[in-house]
Amino acid sequence: MFSSQLNLDEFMLGLHKRNPHEPEFHQAVQEVAQSVIPYINRHPQYIKARILERMTEPDRVISFRVCWEDDEGHIRVNRGYRVQFNNAIGPYKGGLRFASNLTLDTLKFLGFEQTFKNSLTTLPLGAAKGGSDFNPKGKSDREVMRFCQSFMTELHKHIGAHTDIPAGDIGVGAREISYMFGQYKRMENEFRGVLTGKGLEYGGSLVRKEATGFGTVFFTEEMLREHGHSLEGKTCVVSGSGNVALYTAEKIIELGGKVVAMSDSSGSFHAPDGITRDQLIWLIDLKEVRRGRISEFAEQFGCEFHSDTKVWQFPCQLAFACATQNELDLHDAKTLLTNGCIAVAEGANMPTTLEAVHFLQEKAVLFAPAKAANAGGVAVSGMEMSQNSMRMSWSTEELEQRLHLIMRNIHQQCLTYGRDDNGQIDYVQGANIAGFKKVADAMLSYGV
Ligand code: GLU
Repeated sequence: MFSSQLNLDEFMLGLHKRNPHEPEFHQAVQEVAQSVIPYINRHPQYIKARILERMTEPDRVISFRVCWEDDEGHIRVNRGYRVQFNNAIGPYKGGLRFASNLTLDTLKFLGFEQTFKNSLTTLPLGAAKGGSDFNPKGKSDREVMRFCQSFMTELHKHIGAHTDIPAGDIGVGAREISYMFGQYKRMENEFRGVLTGKGLEYGGSLVRKEATGFGTVFFTEEMLREHGHSLEGKTCVVSGSGNVALYTAEKIIELGGKVVAMSDSSGSFHAPDGITRDQLIWLIDLKEVRRGRISEFAEQFGCEFHSDTKVWQFPCQLAFACATQNELDLHDAKTLLTNGCIAVAEGANMPTTLEAVHFLQEKAVLFAPAKAANAGGVAVSGMEMSQNSMRMSWSTEELEQRLHLIMRNIHQQCLTYGRDDNGQIDYVQGANIAGFKKVADAMLSYGV
């Protein structure tokens, strides 16, 4: 049956039937479908070619066994995945996540989101996501190495510098990327830019580590400026203390904002006057090198530590959600509004529930969605690929300038496609339509 108009409820019903028991994937698709279906209905070429159905079905899902030996000599078995979602505008590109609760559902939501995010960067990057239910926390370096080598022994068959270029994500940092790259190189006997987020000594890019966090702040700055505000002097809370959160905090401090709270899975610190740059450097070392807990930071600098508490409960003007999916719900959104928050930016992927997003938008709290706000990480990954291809490396200044330009461009795309009839900007709609259009047009031009 072919209908002349797409209907959101019917579309979602079909998606649920084809992908049962995948709530995160449903949530991610629903958010996009809500904003792109009205646009699609004004452009019948997309309906006829069934573009949205095609975009919600990954190109392929690869799943494999990963066996490795722990330090006691016991054999352990984990599952590895790569979801190659869409390569209409470039080779598959996206991170690898290692987390004990990782499921295919999560990876499908992440891969789907990546399609739009990568499109927004303006770079020729398709979309993928992968990972494993292996949790590096509490494992020795040698165990992590053996796992990464075994993981790459299978994954290498499916990736390549012009095919699929994985990077890091939650649980996959510089250490894991190095072990995987070493194994790829060993197996293929070729030195190619097949992973991004590599060490600077072997083809990595300056600013890659900082890129997601810096980009989130650059985007937020643009959004604030557009609405007559600035970051200077603003009280900010940043959830998480992983790669994204740490460099979001660094850029906030550099631009004159105050970081008053950060967190990890055990709780949050609260420093009402804001932490200093030196204290943040100490925290970066604690998290990246010593792999410690945020409570140690609170203890070191004598600030309050609230166990099992999210940062959203502390008064702030700007909230940066940089930890993980669905960490900011309706209750949190209400607390933020009551405490005077004027903007929420997503540094993590889908950290805000759909209900919370709608509430914030209704109450005119500025909302920067992940696809737009956290695209800086993959954008600098794209630049790492360019530098690898050219066999050269760009300076910090050059990379930061390019990143800044990309984030401004993404903001501009949100303005172009997100303005409603009253002239208000809906950044969710803007990011979704702009991201959709480029991929959809490429798919149309290939035919079926
Ligand atoms: N994992 C990051 C993201 O969610 C970066 C992906 C990449 O650099 O390929 O966008």
